[in-house]
Amino acid sequence: MQGYILKVQKVKDEDCLVTILSSHKQIKCYRFYGARHSIITQGFKLDFELIESKAFLPHLRSTMHLGFSWLIDREKLLIWQNFMRLLADHLRDVEDSDEFYFELVESCAKKFHRQNPIRVILEAYAKILKFEGRLHLDNYCFICDNPLSDEISLGRAFLAAHPICINKYILNKDDIMKFLSTGSTAHLDDNTIKSLYLILLEGF
Ligand SMILES: [Zn+2]
Repeated sequence: MQGYILKVQKVKDEDCLVTILSSHKQIKCYRFYGARHSIITQGFKLDFELIESKAFLPHLRSTMHLGFSWLIDREKLLIWQNFMRLLADHLRDVEDSDEFYFELVESCAKKFHRQNPIRVILEAYAKILKFEGRLHLDNYCFICDNPLSDEISLGRAFLAAHPICINKYILNKDDIMKFLSTGSTAHLDDNTIKSLYLILLEGF
């Protein structure tokens, strides 16, 4: 099987719990420590086998990291691992995951080599909001329910509010609505991108 390593949690000694996103499932499995076992790193794509265990989680075996050339770029790897962590938290109670999520991660991994990684992740998140029916493009503040003006701020899930209602970075409403409705960040400058990324890090 193949999948992306969303999360690695150390348990006892050097054993760990590993969460993997495969095409239709989120798999939680157990990795026993062994000096000759290859290392499991969050964010990598993995080829693996599962050994079912009646009493406990399946055991992770015969693993092999499948590389992307950009994984040696420390800055890109950290951004990617943040994306994996956010996705793991978001899908934590989901066992049978829609293929949408795996396909999205695959397409992001392919884009990471050439494109700005923060833009790739923001554009992926706009797709997630749309797919899950959580995209709000209405002209009302989610805090006070009054109409928005040209300047807005965003809360979690990119919900729009008056800057004074939420006390966050001030953003241009038209730019943000264009981003959310098209899923493209091409018209946004780098400062706006950074602000959106910081909001995203608060959680999906
Ligand atoms: Zn308001």
